Amino acid sequence: MKITVTPEYITKILRTLASEGHAAFLVGGCVRDAVMEKPVNDWDLATSAAPVDVARLFSKTVLTGEKFGTVTVVLPECSAEVTTFRTEGEYTDGRRPDNVRFVSSLNEDLSRRDFTINAMAASVEGELIDPFGGKEDIEAGIIRCVGGPNTRFNEDALRMLRAFRFSAQLGFDIEQETLQAIYSNAGAASKLSAERVRVELEKTLMSQRPETTGEMIKLGLLDRYMALSGKKPDGLEGIAWLPEEPMLRWCAFCAILLAMNYIRSTMETLYNLRLDSKTIKTCLRALAIGEFPSQRTLIKWILSKNDIGAVRCAAAASDAKNYGTALQSIDEIIESGECYSIDGLAVTGRDLLELGHLQGPELGDTLNKLLDYAVVNPDGNNRETLLNLVENADL
Ligand code: ATP
Ligand code: MG
Repeated sequence: MKITVTPEYITKILRTLASEGHAAFLVGGCVRDAVMEKPVNDWDLATSAAPVDVARLFSKTVLTGEKFGTVTVVLPECSAEVTTFRTEGEYTDGRRPDNVRFVSSLNEDLSRRDFTINAMAASVEGELIDPFGGKEDIEAGIIRCVGGPNTRFNEDALRMLRAFRFSAQLGFDIEQETLQAIYSNAGAASKLSAERVRVELEKTLMSQRPETTGEMIKLGLLDRYMALSGKKPDGLEGIAWLPEEPMLRWCAFCAILLAMNYIRSTMETLYNLRLDSKTIKTCLRALAIGEFPSQRTLIKWILSKNDIGAVRCAAAASDAKNYGTALQSIDEIIESGECYSIDGLAVTGRDLLELGHLQGPELGDTLNKLLDYAVVNPDGNNRETLLNLVENADL
């Protein structure tokens, strides 16, 4: 089989490495996506060249993963990660390994990868190198470990979460022996760093099958972050109804789990998963808003009292629970041009100051009162009406 859609700039990197006598292949996710004829997100290359040689061959490079021998080659069009075959680490004396060594090094590199579908490579000519039957598993829609699953999960427990993540993203089933090994090794996931868990969890939440996070909870893979496990929480599939924005999906995830006592608090869960503080703050504000109303004036009033990010998150939590349209209502209100913030008032603080009898805190207070008025009376948001209200102390 041939991979066809490799862009010219990636081909150029492969050819540059080859012209210096190094072996270079596309590996991992990009090969999987190309075989599935899906758009490729990031291009990963594996090479026999040492990181210093890769850095020497291209004008702009960044040593991104020194420990793993990864150099990011930065091009005008995009960037690509070029990683030295792990087995090539010893070739620092300038000896060039022959072709047979290249092939065995590539195979060894592939054998260290997690799943068969992620353990394929392609040459610059597009020839597929697939020693573990990845293409067959793609065709059958199966996630299967490379090698014995127990051993592979013992080496790195994150692979158990990754199995579910890929099953959620691709709509694949986890192969029986691989799944059995997850049952047996789930406890080991509690030792994983929160950052690594968060990445896999977020990718699962952002997929079309966010309810797969419920499988992870059921099997105890998230026990460190949950108050309950052993059964699958209901309702997580509603998250798929939301736009693909991480913050909205995290907020809905927490709201659903909180309502069913799977988590004790949103703050604790998001903090322990090392979410950034903006996400944590916004989600907390959103959940403080509580039940999202359907009444238009009330939505505008909520918008006038909270930051827009928090209001959208609150709407998302509500929409995920009942396939609602609160997020759309917010967009519609914003597009309508109706006033829901002090900036949207037909008068400014300066106008009121010029009237002469307002100063300091009183000014802010009056603007807020005008806002409350304009939220309920959109037609009254004009200079004349608002100034009249102030003049007549009619607020
Ligand atoms: P995505 O499109 O989501 O980035 P990906 O397949 O590129 O998918 P990454 O997490 O970026 O996934 O990993 C890149 C490749 O590195 C994988 O395809 C896999 O071959 C290998 N890999 C990543 N993590 C592990 C791991 N924990 N154990 C073994 N191999 C791994
Ligand atoms: Mg990737």
